[in-house]
Amino acid sequence: MGTKAILYIVVPCYNEEKVLPITSGMFLEKVQKLIQAEKIDEKSRIMFVNDGSKDRTWEIILELAKKDEHFIGISQSRNRGHQNAVLAGLMEAKDCCDITISIDCDGQDDINAMNQMIEEYYDGCEIVYGVRSNREKDTIFKRCTAQGFYKFLNAMGAEVVYNHADYRLVSSRVLQEFANYKEVNLFLRGMFPLVGFKSTSVYYERHERIAGESHYPLRKMLALAFDGITSLSVKPIRMITELGIIIAMLSFAGVIWSIVMALLGRTVAGWASMVCIVAFIGGVQLICTGVIGEYIGKIYMEVKHRPRYIISERTMNQEEK
Ligand code: UDP
Ligand code: MG
Repeated sequence: MGTKAILYIVVPCYNEEKVLPITSGMFLEKVQKLIQAEKIDEKSRIMFVNDGSKDRTWEIILELAKKDEHFIGISQSRNRGHQNAVLAGLMEAKDCCDITISIDCDGQDDINAMNQMIEEYYDGCEIVYGVRSNREKDTIFKRCTAQGFYKFLNAMGAEVVYNHADYRLVSSRVLQEFANYKEVNLFLRGMFPLVGFKSTSVYYERHERIAGESHYPLRKMLALAFDGITSLSVKPIRMITELGIIIAMLSFAGVIWSIVMALLGRTVAGWASMVCIVAFIGGVQLICTGVIGEYIGKIYMEVKHRPRYIISERTMNQEEK
């Protein structure tokens, strides 16, 4: 491959017939400008991933591909959700290009940030995260829920880049390694940091959606947060164990208290023994659940078959090895 990188822009689309005719032109203009400026190779492409749309989205993609060779498209057999659509596009692109940039098709993410992302790539970064510098354009409700989303994820031990969604540059080299992450429960923004390699962030202002409606209502955002936490962290399980230990300690105090009361003769017959049993069993059960949970957490991590190491540099050539 030449000195100029081949760029594939990966764009997930679900029922986007309203925005696609507008934003596709913007993407094409950007790619043509980058080619003219000799920043990227002529073989660069804009890859649309139709995520089982029920409207004319796929027909529009077919028309675009006929009109200009820089447009290409793939279509999923049914709707699988944003994360799966992005993954399908990235995996499809990884063997044909040097770098990918994933971006939503609704025009919310500023395409001009791509210039800086590509500069950072030439400076040696393999992953460049697009980070929103502000959310003034979002509704107050969206802003609060979205910020709560990142805070909650971090509190639960799922580390993510703050205010970064799925607008990012990833080199094909990272994607080759990423292909070894075989899990089906996808939370891409939390998984890419696990791969490692040199990375950085680029800041941009997020716009309003050009047309159509958001596919991420609160319900889907909560589902995504839950996926993120459970796929990256076993902290919820650990919290059960901790709760068990606290309750066991409280019960122990309860046991002493009931014995003292019984000795002082201030109780009816049988009360103290009942309190002792109830308090003791409660604490023991929670600790046991937590311990079983620890093992389930380990099994969960094992079945993902994530790579145990990724080598980024060698002093010797591949052949010498
Ligand atoms: N999307 C998708 N499959 C889905 C839902 C959404 O491919 O099931 C795409 C959608 O077309 C868009 C991107 O994911 O390009 C982000 O969706 P949206 O703009 O609705 O989310 P928001 O920006 O409001 O969080
Ligand atoms: Mg959007």
